[in-house]
Amino acid sequence: MAMAVPMAITLLFAIVLAGGVVSSAEFSYIEYNTTQRIVPGKINVHLVPHSHDDVGWLKTVDQYYFGGNNTIRGACVQNVLDSVISALLEDKNRKFIYVEMAFFQRWWRQQSNAKKIKVKELVNSGQLEFINGGMCMHDEATPHYIDLIDQTTLGHKYIKDEFDQIPRVGWQIDPFGHSAVQAYLLGAELGFDSLFFARIDYQDRAKRLKEKTLEVVWQGSKSLGSSSQIFTGIFPRHYDPPDGFTFEINDVSPPIQDDVLLFDYNVQERVNDFVAAALAQIGYCSFYVPISIRATQI
Ligand SMILES: [Zn+2]
Repeated sequence: MAMAVPMAITLLFAIVLAGGVVSSAEFSYIEYNTTQRIVPGKINVHLVPHSHDDVGWLKTVDQYYFGGNNTIRGACVQNVLDSVISALLEDKNRKFIYVEMAFFQRWWRQQSNAKKIKVKELVNSGQLEFINGGMCMHDEATPHYIDLIDQTTLGHKYIKDEFDQIPRVGWQIDPFGHSAVQAYLLGAELGFDSLFFARIDYQDRAKRLKEKTLEVVWQGSKSLGSSSQIFTGIFPRHYDPPDGFTFEINDVSPPIQDDVLLFDYNVQERVNDFVAAALAQIGYCSFYVPISIRATQI
């Protein structure tokens, strides 16, 4: 079931970091091993680098995209896309999943043809993947279901027309509450092979944590039964990275300082922190340890 994780980057972060430790006092450029593979018999940690760019929440959509009105919320989605795409182009081992087509379309329109060709290569190679793929990550309770269908159709048609791709993962990580329509109609029937979300009732989460039932096969339609069921993963808490591993601007997580000449060199300490976070999570997951790495303006 590990492969059900979208864009699973299976790498043992601890090992990667440990590989950077050098014994001599000299320090030079370290090429980290960021390749991915499943290691049998070990806890395989899936780092999931993803967007979560609200298409309007505290600011207008334009303000979110261009970084206006930042006193309300520091958010500039065009910077997210600029920096993510540039990072992907620098290293083919890096991967990213992008979700909100309303923002991606805006960004795409402003790119040169040369850049577009490079980005299409990223998509074709799987370095950049579109998941969910609607114009936004819709709420599942208050909008009429026609709106859910329309906005998802718009986004998926755009991805198909421009990149000839079909999203295969549902990524409803921020909506409050989840409907059966999402599971069968906007999940399985849409062609998704998995669905992930974060928010559930706190008592339900507590029960599932205890019983290790955060991963389920959800039958969203009684009449369609198993023909429209979908593998569903619920995050153990929210969609944030583990404590101490949030590296957004103004966050207070200690940076990983891997230059041995630094007084504050802290690779071993940070490796230990990460291993502890992974072990804590495996305590209540059945199949995999997904760890969210969010590049986002929420
Ligand atoms: Zn949100």
